[in-house]
Amino acid sequence: MTPLEAVIRARIAQAGPMSVAEYMALCLGHPQHGYYMRQDPLGAAGDFTTAPEISQMFGEMIGIWARAVAPGLPLIELGPGRGTLMADILRVTGPRQVWFVETSPTLRAEQASRVPDAQFVETLAEVSETPALILANEFFDALPVRQYLQTPEGWRERQVGLVADQLTFGLSAPLPLTPPRTDWWEQSALAEGVAAEIARRVAMGGAALIIDYGYRAADRPKGPTLQALRRHAPAGPLAAPGEADLTWLPDFDALAEAFTGLDIHHAEQGAFLARLGIGMRAEALAKARPTEAASLADALERLTAPAQMGTLFKVLGVTPPGTAIPPGFS
Ligand code: SAH
Repeated sequence: MTPLEAVIRARIAQAGPMSVAEYMALCLGHPQHGYYMRQDPLGAAGDFTTAPEISQMFGEMIGIWARAVAPGLPLIELGPGRGTLMADILRVTGPRQVWFVETSPTLRAEQASRVPDAQFVETLAEVSETPALILANEFFDALPVRQYLQTPEGWRERQVGLVADQLTFGLSAPLPLTPPRTDWWEQSALAEGVAAEIARRVAMGGAALIIDYGYRAADRPKGPTLQALRRHAPAGPLAAPGEADLTWLPDFDALAEAFTGLDIHHAEQGAFLARLGIGMRAEALAKARPTEAASLADALERLTAPAQMGTLFKVLGVTPPGTAIPPGFS
């Protein structure tokens, strides 16, 4: 049993089953045992890889976007991981004021080693109110989410409880809810709060770019999307609390509703990066470093191919009303 499982069992024994959001918040953010608090999950011995860790080309394309859409503006990044994305962006844009919104002390240390001048805050609301470019790559999918299921008795919330001394998923008593769907529904109050704060800031100027493994309404999954990854392989979300990454798939159409009144641009990651010129960048790098040609081709494929990250990962650009369509979107 992991140390965090003992904590979770004690809470359930005392207060009854907990929501999936509460379980997720403990697994990822518990001050001592939380998955992001204790370790660097993106390192060599880590559990998963993200686009900026695959290749510098990802951050370079975001840098091109930043230069075109928000010239000279401060950069705010939510959940910057190891700081790799921002370091790659800054090579393209030149020096900018940088704010990192990060709760993990372990990852803050990684970020400070790559972007020494960054300022750290715990929440977006603490960043000074000035037009900026707000970036979030694989951030929203790590925020605690509640799950609701339609049953013959009505809507019920999915919970984590103890059955026969095992952590087990169960359902709450029926709830008087009217979600905007008929089968299942996921809702993250924290994600909604952050999105509202982004919207408030973009209305004052600047822009936002949100990238995540998520879906559009047209290809909505058949059921709730919580998933666990451990050592690059799928794992049971209840198997090793605090020792596996837990994520869900954000609904990009639901997320976009927070930005009503602003200009909203949707794209898939592969097409977005291609429009920004990642193909040409890969060729130029391969010419300059012939021994790396094969690994560059491999990275390009992983970032853009439909069978890899190209269509699973979605990009949402947000700009003040009436701005020209930003590069990367059609
Ligand atoms: N953007 C990075 C890392 C993604 S992992 C990349 O693409 O490589 C998720 C990141 O969000 C981690 O840095 C994690 O510590 C951070 N995070 C998770 N929950 C957070 C919260 N509530 N507030 C701030 N940062 C959070």
